Amino acid sequence: MNYRNTKQRQAILDAIEGHGGHLTAEEIYQVVKLGQPRLSLGTVYRNLRVLAEQGSVRELDFGMAITYFETIKDAHYHLVCRVCGGISDMETDLEQKLMALVEHTSGIDGFQVEQHRLDFVGVCRSCQSKPVEAGGQARALKAR
Ligand SMILES: [Zn+2]
Ligand SMILES: [Zn+2]
Repeated sequence: MNYRNTKQRQAILDAIEGHGGHLTAEEIYQVVKLGQPRLSLGTVYRNLRVLAEQGSVRELDFGMAITYFETIKDAHYHLVCRVCGGISDMETDLEQKLMALVEHTSGIDGFQVEQHRLDFVGVCRSCQSKPVEAGGQARALKAR
């Protein structure tokens, strides 16, 4: 792996981690480009694909128009606002409960579960208090 690629991929990981943990490819591009002006959006996509293959990054698809990327940490679940596109991690012990359920399921019919997914889609607190606008509002990048 050459040095430039390594540097680009690290910058992508840093961008995701430093801005709320769930970014679109376009948002990652905007952040990384600040430090690497010659970067192209295509390069960001290519690096994201490599990072996903390496298991460093996961693509989040909530059935909306855009997908998000996050760095892979412990299994967790997401609260997804369908109005502003805001995503937050849900803090629960659901993972343990679900794993118990998965083991239980395997015990019953011998099905081997390899993955599962669970997303909570709705309207976040701040969007609930805003008047409904056609098209919704743009998602703001949150810096840590
Ligand atoms: Zn919202
Ligand atoms: Zn997350």
